[in-house]
Amino acid sequence: MYKCVHCGFCLQACPTYLETGLETESPRGRIALMKAVNEGRIGITPDVYRHWDLCIQCRACEVACPSGVPYGNLIEATMSEVDQQRKKGLLARVAGNLVLNSILPKQGRLELVANVLRLYQSSGLQSAVRKTKILSTLAPGLAEMEMSSPTVSKQRFRARGQVYPAQGEVRARVAILSGCVMPLMHGSEMDAAMRVLTRNGCEVEVTKGQGCCGAIHSHVGDLERARALARKNIDAFEARGVDAVIVASAGCGARMKEYGHLLENDPGYAERASRFSETVKDIHEYLVDLPFTPPTAKLDRRVTYQDSCHLANAQRITDAPRTILTSIPGVELVEMERSDVCCGAGGTYTITEREFSLRVLDSKMRNVGRTNADVLATANPGCVLQLQYGTQRYGPPVEVKYVTDLLDEAYRREDG
Ligand code: SF4
Ligand code: SF4
Repeated sequence: MYKCVHCGFCLQACPTYLETGLETESPRGRIALMKAVNEGRIGITPDVYRHWDLCIQCRACEVACPSGVPYGNLIEATMSEVDQQRKKGLLARVAGNLVLNSILPKQGRLELVANVLRLYQSSGLQSAVRKTKILSTLAPGLAEMEMSSPTVSKQRFRARGQVYPAQGEVRARVAILSGCVMPLMHGSEMDAAMRVLTRNGCEVEVTKGQGCCGAIHSHVGDLERARALARKNIDAFEARGVDAVIVASAGCGARMKEYGHLLENDPGYAERASRFSETVKDIHEYLVDLPFTPPTAKLDRRVTYQDSCHLANAQRITDAPRTILTSIPGVELVEMERSDVCCGAGGTYTITEREFSLRVLDSKMRNVGRTNADVLATANPGCVLQLQYGTQRYGPPVEVKYVTDLLDEAYRREDG
């Protein structure tokens, strides 16, 4: 943190500073608070950690910083301290433990929750609740969250150790991260990612024994649980000896590429974690490096691209998704203003900092609207869900898609 020279170059990159104009809601202000706590000038009080809580952890400040301040590492360590010192009410403790420790790491339980949500959505109960506005009267906060709850996909994607054969000559043997939320919410999009990989000569294994990457746990400061999940994934993938571990979710890819840092003090895993992280590849970077075969069929779409923070800022990948989009005949890529600024989704931010998340989303959707695009492409499940809600709430009526969905659509059109 002492690398920070207070130059302020990061301020205009920070979504919470852009919304408030307040130094305390800027990266520089948050680092100043970290220093003050570190030097014993102030304690970790609610007034202090409120400013860290409001950080979306998008890491745009890290990219903008000329002094190389590793803001991602700083906020991760800071939130871990906060997590240990924060006094939580009984309900928050029980809910936090239930979601982070008992549901997210256990795919069976997560699937059960998804089934209940799907039943609520498909039984007509959801439309009755929305029509009668009963929830808005009784609990407006809950009603707002209900409105933004994602539609649970009927199609699921499961990690059972199955192998998808390559089409034509085998160019690589890879494994794919199935993840926790993405296979339940976006099962058909995972299938699209598989088709894109196999079409380009990859034999893809959905490795058994893998699980949640730990990104959400890190976001809320539960680094111990994140480390346990990292070890589980390293054990599962390492044994397979594949050429690469492909990740279709930017947030998970960012976490897994930093397992080396997460486990640096674990003598049994430090070295293995660093080696493992080197094998992790984001799906866009992998396709471009292969290189993938550009489709020949035309998709007449006007597309704008939202940089997912964990792809652009944490993994520093901005060109590959654009290369894929512009390779599709007929796709016109229209850049939106400030595509590099976060959409307001980040770990649990859309739930814990609802009001602020919507303010940031509102600004994002205004920029999307100015492009007159009919498709908004991005690279992370959290961003897809947040932007889909943005189109419902603020417009414009664009279709939100993963970049790989568009590539898959073009390939399928090519096949007739
Ligand atoms: S991580 Fe994002 S929200 Fe947090 S201080 Fe940096 S730019 Fe601002
Ligand atoms: S750009 Fe870097 S050095 Fe400058 S204020 Fe921001 S964090 Fe500090």
